[in-house]
Amino acid sequence: MEITEVETYTLGLPTGETFGDARASVTERFWVVVELDTDAGYRGTGWLSTWRAAELFESYLRDAFADLLVGRNPFETEAVREAMRERTLYYPGELGMSAHPRAAIDVALWDLKAKAAGEPLYRFLGGDEREVPAYLSRMDAGYDREELAAVHGEYAERGFRTFKTKVGNRSPEAEARRVETIREAVGPDADVAVDANQSWTVAEAVRTVRALEPRDLAWVEEPISEFDLDGHARVAERIAPPVAGGEMLYRPEQFRHLLASGGMEIAQPDLVRAGGVTGQWEVARLAAGHGVPFIPHIYYAVSAHLVSAAPNGRMVEYIPEYDVGGVVENAPRIEDGRVRLPDEPGHGYRIDPEAKAEYLVPSKD
Ligand SMILES: [Mg+2]
Repeated sequence: MEITEVETYTLGLPTGETFGDARASVTERFWVVVELDTDAGYRGTGWLSTWRAAELFESYLRDAFADLLVGRNPFETEAVREAMRERTLYYPGELGMSAHPRAAIDVALWDLKAKAAGEPLYRFLGGDEREVPAYLSRMDAGYDREELAAVHGEYAERGFRTFKTKVGNRSPEAEARRVETIREAVGPDADVAVDANQSWTVAEAVRTVRALEPRDLAWVEEPISEFDLDGHARVAERIAPPVAGGEMLYRPEQFRHLLASGGMEIAQPDLVRAGGVTGQWEVARLAAGHGVPFIPHIYYAVSAHLVSAAPNGRMVEYIPEYDVGGVVENAPRIEDGRVRLPDEPGHGYRIDPEAKAEYLVPSKD
């Protein structure tokens, strides 16, 4: 099997409202898509999501990697990844913007490999679970108590059992009222987690979480800067709920350090920053070796396959505002708080031609 053609394009979707967390406020989102055609007739699809500069991601993907992919066998995933990495080393560097297109390509390669094997991705990775739980995650930093109760309560009625809200930039008392509001809306048996998006210092994290502890949090996510690797263990030692994180990390060495030091008690690698299916799978396995649950960051449609297959896979993050379901033909089915994985070969998602026609961002070149 050989890759014969590389197609890239960008879909832009208005969010309809502004949403955000402790550090960001979002009004638009983009899906930068890569599709790899092969002489075997299979088409592999991968994508990355961004809030801005989508045209840069798309043009970089095309200019840096398209020629390198044509003629390659998708089963040579490691060799292709290394060839792509080498192209980025001097300019613009291995991490950050250059890593996202490489990850989208990696996802498309795995889609092709599983298709050629005739198996859904979760089974190609060794899994057997058709359904994985999802937790509700809201970009609800700007919501008042009434809105918080409404947007979480709605999903409790749909069968979700775990809920996450944005914290940071508020007094411990104000954060406690937020968590209480959600608890009342979702019921006493549900789990509630908080996400600070790195907005606290170690001392602030400890002080605020201790004020929240009577509310029995499922986890505390990204309490402090991703660069304060050793600070995570100091937070973890001083609070009761598990410290979760990893969505902003790119390299397995970063995960290994946090896992070994006790600063990562739930691993949340992002499908794209961690390096596609290959990179996220590596992190899931590393976490398994430390007895740490794997609950990946966004990109739930593809990551659900990895959660199915990983021994430590617990659930996926579902953010309604980021749902890729609006642009794929066979949108992931979520019933009773569980994602039903497609049974067709590959990851199972193809861009819907009608969505493509409606949301296509015209190319600038
Ligand atoms: Mg987060």
